[in-house]
Amino acid sequence: MESIKKHDAELFKSMNLEKERQEAHLELIASENFVSEAVLEAQGSILTNKYAEGYPNKRYYGGCEFVDQVEDLARERLKKLFNVKYVNVQAHSGSTANMGAYRAVVNHGDKILGMSLDHGGHLTHGHPLNFSGEDYEFHSYGVDSKTERIDYDDVLKIAQKVKPALIVAGASAYSREIDFKKFREIADQVGAKLMVDMAHIAGLIAAGIHNNPCEFADIVTSTTHKTLRGPRGGIILTNNLEIYKKLNRVVFPGIQGGPLMHIIAAKATAFKEASSLEFKAYMHQVVYNAQALAKSLVDLGFHVVSGGTDNHLMLVEVKSLTGLTGKEAEELLESVHITCNKNTVPNDPEKPFITSGIRLGTAALTTRGFKEEDMRLIGQLIYDTLMNPGNDFVLNEIKDRIKILTDKYPLYH
Ligand SMILES: *Cc1c(COP(=O)(O)O)cnc(C)c1O
Repeated sequence: MESIKKHDAELFKSMNLEKERQEAHLELIASENFVSEAVLEAQGSILTNKYAEGYPNKRYYGGCEFVDQVEDLARERLKKLFNVKYVNVQAHSGSTANMGAYRAVVNHGDKILGMSLDHGGHLTHGHPLNFSGEDYEFHSYGVDSKTERIDYDDVLKIAQKVKPALIVAGASAYSREIDFKKFREIADQVGAKLMVDMAHIAGLIAAGIHNNPCEFADIVTSTTHKTLRGPRGGIILTNNLEIYKKLNRVVFPGIQGGPLMHIIAAKATAFKEASSLEFKAYMHQVVYNAQALAKSLVDLGFHVVSGGTDNHLMLVEVKSLTGLTGKEAEELLESVHITCNKNTVPNDPEKPFITSGIRLGTAALTTRGFKEEDMRLIGQLIYDTLMNPGNDFVLNEIKDRIKILTDKYPLYH
C-alpha cells in the first residue's frame, strides 16, 4: 500500500486499521477467507483498465487478445476443477450469478422451491426484499425439527404439492452434506429443473470432500470468495449446451456490462490453487477444525444445530446456555477479538436481527494455519467469554490469550 500511504493518508489510515484488525482478530465468519498474495496481486493489477464486453473472441472492444487469454484460462481451469462442460466466469458476485442462473432456466413469475431463509437458505433464495422474492414465486422447505437436517421425503412432499419449475439446493447456514443425487430424483419426480448454489461449500467440492453437484444439477452457481478462497465474485456452471447459450446472453448483455478482468484473472489463479494437493489438504483440515470446534462446544454444553458438522461451519444456539441472544453474543465476542455473526437457528423464537444463535466457520483460521488443538482452545474461550459478560478481568485475560494465538499464526508477512 506504498502509493496509498504516500498520496492518500486519509484512506491509508482506515485500510491499515483494517489490516491490523484482520491480523489481530480470530476470524470465524463462515463466509470469509484470506486469499493468497497471487490473488491479491491479480485483483490489484492493470487488468482493471480494460473494457471487454462480450466473451473471448466475441468482444465489443478492440485490444482484447490478452484478456481473452486470461478469461479462457479461468474458464478452462474451472471446467477441470469441477469436471463440467460449460462455465461463465463473469458474474460479479454470488447474487448476480444466481440472478443469471434463474433467468437462464425459468421465467419471470415461475414457482421456485428453495431452502427457507431461517433454516439456512440465502437472501437470493426468495427473500421478499430481494430480486428473487420479487421476480419469482418462492416456496420453501426446511430442516426436520428433531434431526435439524434436510428431510428429503419432506422436500419431495412439498415439491409434489407446489409443483415448482425449479428446485434450489444449497445454503448459507447448513452444516451437513447435501445429497444432490436425492435432489435430482425429487426434481425428476415433479418435472422441475434443479439448481445447486454451492457458494459456501465450493472448496469442499473442489477438494472431493463433498459430492459434486455438476453431475446432477441443470445449473450450478457459486461465489469464489468463501471456501474456494478466491477473489470476491461469482461463477455459473452447467453441462447443458442450450442452458449455457441462454446463460451467456443473460449475463451479458442481460444483467451486466463489462466483465471485471482483474477479478477474472484472480479467479484464474485461485482455480489453479484450488486444484493443488495443498488445497485438498487445506480443505480436509478445515473440516477437521470445524468438527473439533463443534465437539468442544457440545462438550461445554452448547446446542450445536444437528449435533455437529460435515463441512466448514456450524450453527450454535447460545441462548439456552448463556441467556444471551445471538446479537449480544456476537457483540461480546467481538469485544475480545473473536469475530463471528449472529444467526437464526431452526425455529428461532427471536427476530432475524436478534436471533438465538451464532454461526461459526473455520475456513479463514485454517488458512492461517490453525489446527484442532487451537480450535479446542477457541471453543473454551468462546464459552468463557459468553459466561462472563461484564467481567472485565476475565474478558481481558481472554483477549491476552487471543493475542498469543494470533501472534502464533501471522497472516500476511
Ligand atoms: C454468499 C452466498 C451467496 C451470495 O454471494 P454474494 O457474493 O454475497 O452476492 C449466494 N448464495 C449463497 C448460498 C451464499 O451463501
